[in-house]
Amino acid sequence: MGQTLPRHQRTTQNRIDAPTLKCGSPSTRGDESVFFQEWLAGGCRKNQLPISAVCNSRCIFCSNNQNPFPIARGLFRDVEDIKHQLSLMGPYQGDIYMSESLPGRIAEGEAFLHPEFFEILKLVRRKYVGNTLCFATNGTLLDEVFVRELSRFRPIRIRLSMHTTRPDLWARIFGRSSRDAEKALGASLLIRKYRMDLEGAMVVLPRICGWDDIETTYETLVTQGAKSMILWRPGYSRLMHHETIRAIECPVEEFLEFSDRMRKVHRVPVAYYPSMHGAPDVDVSRIVSVTLRGNSRNGFGPYRRVLWLTSEAAHDLIAGELHKRAATGGNIHLVAPVRNRTYGGNIIVGGLLMADDFIAAGREVLDVYPDTELVLVPKIPFDRHERDLAGKPAYRIAEELGRPVWVVTPDGSFNPLLEGYFDRNRPVTISMDGMDCVRRSGGGEEAGAQHEPHPCGYSEEAPRHAGAAAMPQEEAIPSGERGSRCR
Ligand code: SF4
Repeated sequence: MGQTLPRHQRTTQNRIDAPTLKCGSPSTRGDESVFFQEWLAGGCRKNQLPISAVCNSRCIFCSNNQNPFPIARGLFRDVEDIKHQLSLMGPYQGDIYMSESLPGRIAEGEAFLHPEFFEILKLVRRKYVGNTLCFATNGTLLDEVFVRELSRFRPIRIRLSMHTTRPDLWARIFGRSSRDAEKALGASLLIRKYRMDLEGAMVVLPRICGWDDIETTYETLVTQGAKSMILWRPGYSRLMHHETIRAIECPVEEFLEFSDRMRKVHRVPVAYYPSMHGAPDVDVSRIVSVTLRGNSRNGFGPYRRVLWLTSEAAHDLIAGELHKRAATGGNIHLVAPVRNRTYGGNIIVGGLLMADDFIAAGREVLDVYPDTELVLVPKIPFDRHERDLAGKPAYRIAEELGRPVWVVTPDGSFNPLLEGYFDRNRPVTISMDGMDCVRRSGGGEEAGAQHEPHPCGYSEEAPRHAGAAAMPQEEAIPSGERGSRCR
């Protein structure tokens, strides 16, 4: 320990993204730090304890420089602030993420750079003795002295960013020296040597690395002990320089083909973002069922035309699920992808959509379908207080569109915002007559019969809950949903 800390502190003095503020600053409300405020806004997750918004690299794709609005960066979290959060966290057995912060108003950074890092680990271990502590890192600080000291706090899982095995390319991608590359590229072996869990994280950059090198890197991480893998298609906003875009662009078809192939070839679980496969991350049936009642315009019958505003990434999955569940009778559901006008670029995930994006997309659809009676938006772009990342509340969507808007959560519960809760204790059967979808092009409709809506039928089934969204407290941190913000 005595050997490690001085070395670690020397390293922090060399960081590129030097803190512009002291630990814990700025306080934007009384004594609450931005870290603490984000923790409150994110629903007081027990699995989230970020400590740094300082980084020592300049990755070619880093999102910290291409955010369309200011985010907090260049600061370490004050130890007293960490104690405050710990003192409010209850019993918990799950993993604790110390590098990631949701909803997403704080820049991602290197936790290992924190000058009081090991003191913080002692505090966390005092309260949470056996929980796995999770870190994301570019690997530049992982020399043997540091890794050995870190391993004393096992169980620990390290998500190591490694986009290439070639030192020259590594240096170009991370904006650091080839010497740094040698150290970072040796980190996975040290992690294994000191018996910590390794997760490989790759941003796929075929125009810089070539597919052969990307595959070699994937295999290297797996061979060196990665128990899971995560892949990102590089994301960029409208603020990214066009030459950089040319360098990092990765066609979505190639990305999905590579990801699918790696999943089949290697036996480790792999998550990739954006993912357009699998089941939609929302209980479509449940949402459909509750749209069949509570409409004040027709005696609390069904909402006769319902508009789902989805992310571009989720559009096809939700539209497909609605088509599968289309039966006889019911109401009409439209599905429209929302283009991210705020970020622009190739950002298609839901987590970065803004209230204004929903308003703009909703207006376009309502021009064509003015008889729409209900609009549904996903929960993921909104924090616990139903505000987007820029702070605009979701109820403004309802006011701007002049329609009821529900914020729907993956489990099928929802927040009706300015509308009342409808509960007549009368269960319903899903009974739908047709679906139609507004396609990406914006104008046409997907093939499929459109029918006039029918009143819903009632049965003796148990009623489905239709209450306000309860923010899940211990869900996995869906960092990928924010795009390739960082690692
Ligand atoms: S992408 Fe992550 S590691 Fe790279 S510069 Fe940004 S914050 Fe640092």
